[in-house]
Amino acid sequence: MDFQDSPDEANFRTECQQWLAANAQRKARSNEVYGQGMDAQARLQASRVWQGKKAVAGFGAITWPVAFGGRGGTPMQELIFRQEEGHYSVPGNAFSVSLGMVIPSLFVHASPAVRERHVGPALRGEELWCQLLSEPGAGSDLGMVRTRAERCTDGRDGWLINGQKVWTTWAQFADFGTVLTRTDPNVPKFDGLTSFYIDMKSPGVSIRPIRQASGEAEFNEVFMNDVFVPDSQRLGEVGKGWKVTMTALMNERLSIGGVMPPELWRTAATMMRDAQFAGQSALKDGRMRERLADLYLNAQGLWLLQCRGLTELGKGKEPGPELSVSKIVGARTLQDYAYCAIDLQGERGVLASDELGEDWQQVESLWFGAAGMRIAGGTDEIVRNNVGERVLGLPAELRNDKGVPFNQLVS
Ligand SMILES: Cc1cc2nc3c(=O)[nH]c(=O)nc-3n(C[C@H](O)[C@H](O)[C@H](O)COP(=O)(O)OP(=O)(O)OC[C@H]3O[C@@H](n4cnc5c(N)ncnc54)[C@H](O)[C@@H]3O)c2cc1C
Repeated sequence: MDFQDSPDEANFRTECQQWLAANAQRKARSNEVYGQGMDAQARLQASRVWQGKKAVAGFGAITWPVAFGGRGGTPMQELIFRQEEGHYSVPGNAFSVSLGMVIPSLFVHASPAVRERHVGPALRGEELWCQLLSEPGAGSDLGMVRTRAERCTDGRDGWLINGQKVWTTWAQFADFGTVLTRTDPNVPKFDGLTSFYIDMKSPGVSIRPIRQASGEAEFNEVFMNDVFVPDSQRLGEVGKGWKVTMTALMNERLSIGGVMPPELWRTAATMMRDAQFAGQSALKDGRMRERLADLYLNAQGLWLLQCRGLTELGKGKEPGPELSVSKIVGARTLQDYAYCAIDLQGERGVLASDELGEDWQQVESLWFGAAGMRIAGGTDEIVRNNVGERVLGLPAELRNDKGVPFNQLVS
């Protein structure tokens, strides 16, 4: 493939640059972190406004079909926009789950009336969606979901949902959520699941934010106690909830994964130059230069892998393992960078960025956040299993629950 922009891509990049220059503030430093001192609600509000602006300008959902309000653009255009956006001080994307996963699954599995009602407000950032999949006993293996949905027996055309979800990103602020439930425990685990969407303010929904080490509470426990959901809010057929979930998860994969913060290796080089290690600039130490070289090579390798994956997508092919491998390497690289930066500070590394200065905000945010990236959307181990089985052709994991009714798997 050609790693330079094609003429069309170059034109698109110019369009993005011009729009961003007119609508956002360029970062003062490449490692600037948006929203310091703002609470989560204020950051979310800023993210809503930014998403609204992008939607009006045609950058709100670049790869969505035009019929749904998107641009009908290519994944490469999406990546170009994100690269350019990375140079600007703009809110983090609170809508990646809404727009990257949930709403694309509504395109396929919701009725025209539901799409008509919900797609526009989500695209403009007016309504936030969350995804209620994981439970205390069902994360890597969502086939073990226990949250029940049972037909109402009181004449109402709907269902009652009971159960608990966990790790639900932004549930405390979300307007709606898709929920994976068990409707038939008598069949094998993936066959008895059904998807719905619920209004997060419905009676019977209670949300408990989980406080993280950073002090933030990005995700939540969600308890559902006799939550009524009309049958019109069912997504897909009864018993086909796994198919709906797979549509969302596939879209997550197609939403490209993250873009590395711009110039991360250069930021690391500056830190090493300025830090003292064994009585001299850390950059003079071979071991430190080796860590810098690893960071540079990983960042370059990721970029090339991403290009390869996007080329496949652009040709209408399924991407190979590139995007999965990118997730493993990208999250690990960001975590290594944060650890290295903190190691360089010696005992001062225990101080917070308020005391160390604004250059440390990015390190701090990656130090707290990168571990979660290695879990969300499939843990490192699960992604490696997939690569092993699907790419390297290694023997599949033993699955002795295959064909066994769900109610025989749980005590
Ligand atoms: C930042 C963040 C945001 C999230 N947002 C959401 C959200 O919005 N909605 C939602 O539903 N969920 C969300 N999650 C949950 C996430 O999807 C799960 O945490 C993830 O799938 C792992 O599940 P688990 O935590 O139950 O771990 P488990 O599945 O219990 O795994 C525990 C450990 O065992 C390992 N393991 C499990 N099975 C295997 C195997 N077969 N082979 C080898 N090792 C294995 C895992 O790798 C892991 O190390 C989020 C998580 C994070 C960190």
